[in-house]
Amino acid sequence: MTILKFGVFGYPISHSLSPAMHTAAFSALGMTDAAYEAYAVLPEELKEKVLKAQADGFRGLNLTIPHKEKILEAGIIKPDAFAEKVGAVNTLLFNEGNIYGFNTDAAGALAALEQAGADTAGKKILIIGAGGAARSISFLFGERGNAVRIINRTAEKAKKLAAEIADKTGNRHVSGGGFSAGWDDLAQADIIIQTTELGMGKYEDVSFFDQLELPAGKTKDEMIQTHLKNKAVAFDIVYNPQETKFLKEAEKAGAKTLNGMMMLIYQGALAFEIWTGRKPDVDVMTKAVLNGLEKK
Ligand code: NAP
Repeated sequence: MTILKFGVFGYPISHSLSPAMHTAAFSALGMTDAAYEAYAVLPEELKEKVLKAQADGFRGLNLTIPHKEKILEAGIIKPDAFAEKVGAVNTLLFNEGNIYGFNTDAAGALAALEQAGADTAGKKILIIGAGGAARSISFLFGERGNAVRIINRTAEKAKKLAAEIADKTGNRHVSGGGFSAGWDDLAQADIIIQTTELGMGKYEDVSFFDQLELPAGKTKDEMIQTHLKNKAVAFDIVYNPQETKFLKEAEKAGAKTLNGMMMLIYQGALAFEIWTGRKPDVDVMTKAVLNGLEKK
């Protein structure tokens, strides 16, 4: 039996939920010839390991930290227009001697928002952070013509990203800055997307709101309550923990909230479709991810 080989390359990678999620999806479709595994690949090995995967007959790969940008420098893949614009690739497809690159992270984020009932058309988006994930999500909303405000601890990075998006998409309503005007930025936003590591790991007890300066005599809760728009959506792309401090605080002030789990699942589902041409069962993938998260 021919084995259809898939996998994820990252470093570190042992935490990855992708093998469980994709294996469940293959199994639900009766694709017993498909196998998906996690591979620990160092940055300096990336090019050689991707070429080896091609030679070994792999059908598809996911790339995660620290490879998403680096793969483009290797000069061995053909990115699609969006991945090229963003400068990051999370999905590779091996087909007839070519290696095609895609970025499904941003579309995964959009699908998660839509599934949660959030209408994004014409909405003002506030992106917190200017790293890799912020980059692809900001590009997507920039391309869709939304007003996008990107704010980051390191203000220069957000300004640079905003200028690049405005330049490449022609959207003049994309701007960047630091956290100094964070409360005002919050007051303008319909959808707030938290993309930093705040709320997880060593930052579990820290939220974005903790990083904003409080005016004399005001509490953080009062400021959130008075600045968060009625019907605002707060989306934290972190999924472990499932409810970050940021989400708890936003929910308390009346926001509709969602975490990053469905983004993880939809980016995977979109990669699955690219590789197989088939739609995976998202409920089956969700169960596998929830099961994996419970074990962590
Ligand atoms: P990254 O490129 O390393 O960017 C990290 C971002 O976090 C930067 O904006 C950085 O700000 C900020 N940051 C780090 N520590 C901070 C602190 N103490 N205070 C304020 N800001 C801080 O990482 P990434 O690839 O974008 O990933 C970011 C997060 O998204 C991770 O938690 C990752 O797990 C999650 N993620 C989730 C999904 C999903 O499918 N749900 C997909 C991708 C990523 P500076 O520029 O100032 O350093």
